[in-house]
Amino acid sequence: MNNSVQLVLRQIPSVNKILQDSVMKSIIADYGEKLVKISINSVLGEIKSNILNGLVDNIPNYDDIVNQIKVEVNSKALPSLRKVINGTGIILHTNLGRASLPENVLNQMQRIASGYSNLEFDLETGKRGSRYAHVAGLISKITGAEDAVVVNNNAAAVMLVLSTLASKGDVVISRGELVEIGGSFRVPEIITSTGGNLVEVGTTNKTHLNDYAEKINEETTALLKVHTSNYKVIGFTEGVSTQELHQLAKENNLPLIVDLGSGLLVDLSKYINYKEPTVQEMVKNSDIVTFSGDKLLGGPQIGVIAGKKKYIDKIKKNQLLRALRVDKLTLSSLEIILREYYLKDEKELLASIPVLKKLTESSDNLEQKAKDLLIILKANNKLNLKIIEDYSKVGGGSLPGLELPTYLVAIKAEGISVNKLESRLRKIDIPIIGRTIKDYFCLDLRTIEENEYEIIKDGLCRIISN
Ligand SMILES: *Cc1c(COP(=O)(O)O)cnc(C)c1O
Repeated sequence: MNNSVQLVLRQIPSVNKILQDSVMKSIIADYGEKLVKISINSVLGEIKSNILNGLVDNIPNYDDIVNQIKVEVNSKALPSLRKVINGTGIILHTNLGRASLPENVLNQMQRIASGYSNLEFDLETGKRGSRYAHVAGLISKITGAEDAVVVNNNAAAVMLVLSTLASKGDVVISRGELVEIGGSFRVPEIITSTGGNLVEVGTTNKTHLNDYAEKINEETTALLKVHTSNYKVIGFTEGVSTQELHQLAKENNLPLIVDLGSGLLVDLSKYINYKEPTVQEMVKNSDIVTFSGDKLLGGPQIGVIAGKKKYIDKIKKNQLLRALRVDKLTLSSLEIILREYYLKDEKELLASIPVLKKLTESSDNLEQKAKDLLIILKANNKLNLKIIEDYSKVGGGSLPGLELPTYLVAIKAEGISVNKLESRLRKIDIPIIGRTIKDYFCLDLRTIEENEYEIIKDGLCRIISN
């Protein structure tokens, strides 16, 4: 290191000196000394490394250093996982956390989280109980399944089922169903990773019952049907119905396993133009069904395994279940959601489960919401605003191709490009995520709650006055 660099480094103020600064003292009063010290060290460390790497010749002036520390404290004071406003209109946005939960679920989670509970304690006998007992009965009553267990997510559910029932032989599946879901879940890899031998039948667009029948032999352990929930094969296509496949499985004394994915528990065909099989239909026509909790079911992230008791009993004995088990918070929220499905009628459900509400929200309602948000945002005269009609998507690998008519508030900010606007809105305390259409930043009202309008207004005000 040469002398001039050493001289510059010596000018960096000491941590102690900065801590004595009156501005710092008031920040310490708000945020605590530890966070402020961490932030000072990180800012000073960066200044030092910039000088050592020859990126700058001099240290910033003292006021700039203090300002940088303030910014650092502010950003470090926020947790990494935070609330965001979802203005994309994608209801089950996997990157934004999929399903949002109803209020009564949150109250129950808080009660269970803040104290002890009868998680694995049977209050009748005073002996050890099962954590699955809190939800298995409800799942059976709602879906008609003989029994059920739940695990971390549907990927885990499929792995557990295959590793229990089909790890030592052939698993027969249609080539049209060897799908990838969400990048990290590929059906062929899942089958082979659990020890099963993948036997593909049919072609990408057509599979006949005979194709399955021809491949069944002494080595076969299960027939697998994967609901192609995140894409559609259209045109010259043919698949085998679950009923037919179930009949074939029965004749050969094999289980039919269905990976349903989306977990729809109420028939929505009256409300949306899409035919999605319900869990109840699949339970009737198969031996084991697996599905997610945080897709169309509208609950927490879990995977449900429901079906015939003789198979569920085997699954319960698999050691892997222990590694995939769900925690008390998840179970507490799942139970409340399931109670809604069990105790409420269809109309009430569409109002109380946020995912179902968003899926079936009328475009009249959405238009009114867009008008309400527009009025609130109009208070800021640097915004150029308009309402446009568009379509929302379901997302989360569910109901592919379905487009729900919706209304957006389109925003342009004076002197700020749409890309800048989008990027600044991502970097505020409660980030606002939307869609960019031409040179407008757009917010789809389908995924925005009324109590978020003011947050959006404040967010926009902040980045525009900056
Ligand atoms: C979404 C999906 C999965 C993965 O479920 P996760 O709950 O996200 O783990 C598996 N199979 C199908 C058919 C799906 O749609």
